[in-house]
Formats: sequence, C-alpha cells, structure tokens
Amino acid sequence: MSRDTLIDLIYLFSATTFIVALKGLGSPKHARRGNMVAAFGMLVAVVATFFKYVDGHSLHHVWLILLAMFIGVIIAVPTARFVKMTAMPQLVAIFNGVGGGAAALVSITEFIHIKSSHPATYVILEVLLGVLIGTVSFAGSAIAFAKLQELMTGRPVTYPGQQLINGVVGLAAVVLIVTILVTASTSLLWILLALAFVLGVIFVLPIGGADVPVLISLLNAFTGLAVAASGFTLGSNLLIVAGTLVGASGILLTRLMSKAMGRSLSNVLFSAFGSVVTASGATTRDDGRSVRSGTAEDAAILLGFSSRVVIIPGYGLAVAQGQHVLRELADLLESKGIEVFYAIHPVAGRMPGHMNVLLAEANVPYEQLLEMDEANSELATADVALVVGANDTVNPAALDDPSSPIYGMPIIKADLAENVLFLKRSMRPGFAGIENDLLYNPKTTLVFGDAKDTLTKMVAAVKAN
Ligand code: NDP
Repeated sequence: MSRDTLIDLIYLFSATTFIVALKGLGSPKHARRGNMVAAFGMLVAVVATFFKYVDGHSLHHVWLILLAMFIGVIIAVPTARFVKMTAMPQLVAIFNGVGGGAAALVSITEFIHIKSSHPATYVILEVLLGVLIGTVSFAGSAIAFAKLQELMTGRPVTYPGQQLINGVVGLAAVVLIVTILVTASTSLLWILLALAFVLGVIFVLPIGGADVPVLISLLNAFTGLAVAASGFTLGSNLLIVAGTLVGASGILLTRLMSKAMGRSLSNVLFSAFGSVVTASGATTRDDGRSVRSGTAEDAAILLGFSSRVVIIPGYGLAVAQGQHVLRELADLLESKGIEVFYAIHPVAGRMPGHMNVLLAEANVPYEQLLEMDEANSELATADVALVVGANDTVNPAALDDPSSPIYGMPIIKADLAENVLFLKRSMRPGFAGIENDLLYNPKTTLVFGDAKDTLTKMVAAVKAN
C-alpha cells in the first residue's frame, strides 16, 4: 500500500470519528465523549498530515508549522480552560473567526500559487468563494466577539438604508468574483478581500447582542463552507468532509435556535431585535395589579410542603453561578421525599445547551432533566414551579399576545403548577425586553435577590425546618 493510500485511509478514519462525535453531541449524556472522539480523530489527522507527500514532496517548513501550532496551543488551552460559562459565546465567536480567517488565507495563497498555471474556471471559483466566505466569517465573528465582550455596544447598530447598502456591497462582491474569474487579476483579489471584510462587519452591526449566538451559529456554518472550499482547492477529502459537516450542522443549529425562539432566521438577522425595551420595571401595573414578594424563608416553607417541584433554570442562574447550590437544594428536597425535576427550555440562557452544560457542571443527574414538551405535560401535577433566573422562556405572552415580539415562541408553562416561585433581582425584563405577565399572576411569589444568595438562604431554611 502506498503512503498516500495509507494517509487517505487514516483521513477516512478521522472523518468517521467526526460523524460519530456529532452523534454523541446530540445528547448531554454523551456530549463529553463525543468531543473526545472528535479531538482524537483530529489529532490523528494532524499527525498523518506530517507524513503526507504534496506534489511528490514531503511537507515543507515543518519547524514553522510546529512553531505556529505551539503558539496556538499556548493561547487556546488556557483560554478554553479558564473561560467563564457566561463568556462561552464570545469564545466560540473568536475561535470560529480565526477558523474562517485561516480558510481565507489558504485560499489567497493558493490563488497566487495556481494563477500562473491557468487552472480551470471552477478551480478559481472555489478559491474565490473560500476568500469571500472565510473573510466574511472572520470579520463578522470579530464584531460578534466585540459585542458580546462589551468592547462596543451590544445593541443593534442601525442607520438609514442599511439593508440596501448591505445588498449593494454583497452584489459588488459577486460582480468582482465574476471579473476575477475572467481576468485572474491579483489586484482585484485584494479588493475582493477588503469588500468581504466590510461585508462581514456591516452584516453583523444591526444584530442585537443577545441575538448574536444565533448569528455565531450561522457564521460557524460559513466557516465550515470556507474550509470545504479550501478542501477542494487543496484536494483534501478530509477538509471537504469536515468543512461540510461543520457547514451542515451550523445551518441546522441556526434553524433550530430560530425555531425555538419562535422567530424566522430573517427576523433574527434583519429586524434589529432587542433595540426597544418596553417593560416598565415597576412592581404595580397600570391596571392596578401588583406583584407579591416573599422571603427566601417563605419560599423554603412552601417547598417543604410540596410533593412535586419543577425547577425552571434560565440565564440568571448562569449569571449568578448558582448551579451548585441549586443542586444542593434539590438534593435536600429529595432527601425529604419531595420529587424534583428540571424543565429545560431549548433557548434558556444565551447559547444552545447552556442549561444542560451549567447543570452538568453541578453533576445534576441527566434523568432529572426534562425537555420542554415533556416538562409541560408534567407541570400541571407540580405543586411548585421554581423559576431561577428565567424570564422570556416562561412568559405567557408568547402564547396569548399576538402583538408581543416573542409571540409564537414555545414556552415552559410554569403557570400550570399550583404555585410559582420566581427568583430574580428586580423587575427588569429578560433578553426580549418585555413585561412578563407571570410576575403578576396570583399564583406567583417573587423572591428578589441574586439567585445564588437566595438559593443559599433557602437551603439554610429548608435544613432548619
Ligand atoms: P431571560 O434573558 O429572559 O431572563 C433572565 C432573567 O434572569 C432576567 O429577568 C434577570 O432579571 C434574571 N437575572 C439576571 N441575573 C440574575 C442573578 N444574578 N440572579 C437572579 N436573577 C438574575 O432568560 P431566559 O433564559 O428565560 O431566556 C433566554 C432568552 O435569551 C430568550 O429570550 C432567548 O430567545 C434568548 N436567546 C437565547 C439563546 C440561546 O441559545 N440560549 C441565544 C440568543 C438569545 P433581573 O435582572 O431582575 O435579575
């Protein structure tokens, strides 16, 4: 067997591990293993590449490649290790951006390399698409990072004629690609690069900070496509498979997230959502209804008298980092014979699977996590729905107010439970910036304060009772 055949077989093995890994990532129980499988497959592919012949020669500049890899490891390992869970979306954004940028750089070098040999038009087209998509992903991800990291405003940045300008820049990029296909001009390639960069920036500017995770998933798909384009350019089957898997799963995830938010993808990308806050923040409404608040001790007494408790976690739990003490409270209730489970909304938090990851950190048993539909069918028999830092994902306006911006989003029906305990710091709204009628429901008791502090007091009170 020739060395090239052996390496192709190793690449086939790696591509298979990526598919197995994606299957694993489909459930919280197997996600960690899925990640390890993909990482192993990638390691094998990287090592094999060092032994590959390119145009009859071994790899060039091995020491430079090793140095670049070393620098990458030095930066990436501590960053990934020590990032806070709430900062994960921006980490994904920046890592995704460098992936897109790398794919664009590969395409640029390849253009310069192959230009003189007058390659077929489709070969140049692959290279140019790699430059365009990779650079849009790089620039867009950089702006997404800046928004989430609060280096710039997280609100949508809008100006008159914005979508028209975006359309014109996009069209100009397409015209430029056609011109380069005809002229093979390197100077025009630099203009395409600049235009793609501008396009990436202006495409992301009108998207509100909290919609950015959906956008990042889409940019992730772009990076995958740019990598697949590089794969065609370099004749690497592995890159084609890996890029296509990233592209396809990114697009699927983007669709699933939009669906779970009850919005179309075009609404997420083009409506500048999140620019208007309509909630007043007052504890009394115009119609005279006011909220009822209680103490952590009141909440503990109510829980103590229950036989079924459903915990509904949301973004505020991640902010408060209250997952460990929440688990402690749940264990305590269970030790008193009270049945406890968690209702997980698909877009609770600020990234897909946010609550699953958060609760896994506190070793909450997977069997206690119920997905939204299953949880909703159980809620009517619950004595208490304990809402911890969630808001939009339990807002009944999504079901019964057609004028609400979240109308159509499926929610966890906390109000089906006999009582609702709502843990939050103030009357401030959630991500959608809108009032939540559940706060004024006669079943609801609000316990104001940081979720971790309140839960800690509740644990002490349950122990004391
Ligand atoms: P929300 O953003 O609706 O609400 C979070 C609540 O947590 C707020 O009302 C806030 O109130 C409270 N809170 C914040 N910090 C604390 C704290 N330290 N202690 C106690 N409470 C706190 O959260 P949900 O999880 O219900 O909904 C997620 C939203 O994000 C949805 O609208 C979803 O569409 C959107 N989204 C989700 C994505 C995902 O992939 N998961 C991606 C993009 C958007 P207060 O300030 O008064 O404490």
